[in-house]
Amino acid sequence: MKTAIPREAIEQIMKEYNCSEEEATKAYLDAQDRAGEASRALLEERFGSRKRTIPPAPKLYTPAEIKKHLDKYVVGQEEYKKRLAIAAAYHFAMIQYLREHPDDTTVKRFRKKNTITSGPSGSGKTYCVEVLGDLLQLPALIIDATDYTEAGYVGKSADDMIRELIDMAPGYNRKEQARFISRYGGLICIDEIDKKAKNGALVGHDISREGFQRSVLKLIERKLIPINNPLSAASQIQEVMDRQRGKKTSKQDSMISTENILFILGGSFERYQDNLESIVKKRIQHKGRVQEDGSIVIKGFAAEEGTGGKKQLENYYKKAEADDFIKFGLLPELIGRSPIRTFVNLLSKNDLIRIMQETEDSILNQYKLEFKLFDIEVEFATEAVEYVAEISENRKTGARALVSVWENILTDFQFELPGLNFSGLQITRELCERPKDVLLKMLERSPFVDFVENFRKEYGIELSLDEDMQNYIEQYASQKNMQISEALKKLLSGASALNYMDIKWPYKITKDMIDDEKYFDKLFAKWHEEQKKKDAQKI
Ligand code: ADP
Repeated sequence: MKTAIPREAIEQIMKEYNCSEEEATKAYLDAQDRAGEASRALLEERFGSRKRTIPPAPKLYTPAEIKKHLDKYVVGQEEYKKRLAIAAAYHFAMIQYLREHPDDTTVKRFRKKNTITSGPSGSGKTYCVEVLGDLLQLPALIIDATDYTEAGYVGKSADDMIRELIDMAPGYNRKEQARFISRYGGLICIDEIDKKAKNGALVGHDISREGFQRSVLKLIERKLIPINNPLSAASQIQEVMDRQRGKKTSKQDSMISTENILFILGGSFERYQDNLESIVKKRIQHKGRVQEDGSIVIKGFAAEEGTGGKKQLENYYKKAEADDFIKFGLLPELIGRSPIRTFVNLLSKNDLIRIMQETEDSILNQYKLEFKLFDIEVEFATEAVEYVAEISENRKTGARALVSVWENILTDFQFELPGLNFSGLQITRELCERPKDVLLKMLERSPFVDFVENFRKEYGIELSLDEDMQNYIEQYASQKNMQISEALKKLLSGASALNYMDIKWPYKITKDMIDDEKYFDKLFAKWHEEQKKKDAQKI
């Protein structure tokens, strides 16, 4: 738990004891710790020892049970879900067995099923681990490798991951939380591990990238980690205090072993040159040339090109082997310690539709509920969902795009409709294509009046658009297949310059202003020149 340090308290200490801010902060933390201990001692004296509620042992599941649960949330990615389900089911069952049978020597050294996954971003690699952690009721930490550095000089260090995992465990204090993980285990998913791959061309950067991989490797190979950051002010103070009091904290209490933590490494393994797909492809093609019987296939004939195209490319991810990951730039030892290798597929439009409609935490259900909170029943038409899937697919960010696409469409509805007398909203394809126009129609508000009003609110300037102008802009919008509000925004984007020209009276918009994209730029340049001349005259 982080303690907020009140600024006034530190200033008060600095003033009263004439010490530096650092000394005051350390003293404050020290006093807090002692006060905490004293109050606990007092409470225990009065009520006897506190009854500790030991968190129950998490339930164990079979691989099929885990997979069934993942299926409710994660669309497709069958191979990945299956591999993950097996890894988790056996890992946590083995921990329990070894805990209950410490004398069993069948397995001298428990080889963990750490997993490495490749595949496009936004297609479920980390989401699956999140869902898995929820089911198992175990701490599951998901981190982005790019936030971490080797030794923690700039970013966080790899050891911090373990302390973040401890923070997620149930328990009364850090020691108890750490004990929970030592007993029952936990999950750490390191995303974007590919960004820490060494790349022959970049020597300088590579040292720290490889360093990060080495520190992850140490975590994976059973390492003892201090449960408190040894460099933090609080731990240093604690250490001094313990020394002063002659108190020795046992190593077992202050350290945690990473033995029972399952690691899942993931990344897109894409990069400008030599990405994982091209590495696998090269290997397979090279292999193809020399047959098992020693005969050689000559390249360049139709038979070798095979099915070609996208489908063939997709397959290369699936065929990635240890050597391919090593060629990409991961440490052989890290790959060796991650024996399960799996992949996720690029999500198709069809997958995106299923993600919206079929999953247990579907985004459509969330929107339905959000509107319902303000007594509005929302219905999504199939073509609307298809349209959003299409747009999202083109963004190439996997399912991540869904939220932003829907937000862009629905944001004005979510702002305007609550509180008005709307009890229902049909989300049609037309609404998705022209949300602003549809909304203004519902509100019986003209897009021109709306634009003029917003412009006045933003810049304090009244624009005037007569009927001729309105027709003209309407025609433009329909020719360009745009919403009227969009056309207005585009055609009058330069008008904000009026704000810098001290214009206060109603400003009449004419065709010249709309036909010439640079009209307002030129107007501003002219005005600026005149200002300069006037200033010169004054002098
Ligand atoms: P990455 O593969 O880069 O780790 P994530 O797993 O973080 O991507 O996916 C981003 C978000 O997209 C998730 O939070 C989830 O809501 C959604 N998502 C991605 N893939 C799927 C999928 N296969 N099924 C359901 N939702 C998905």
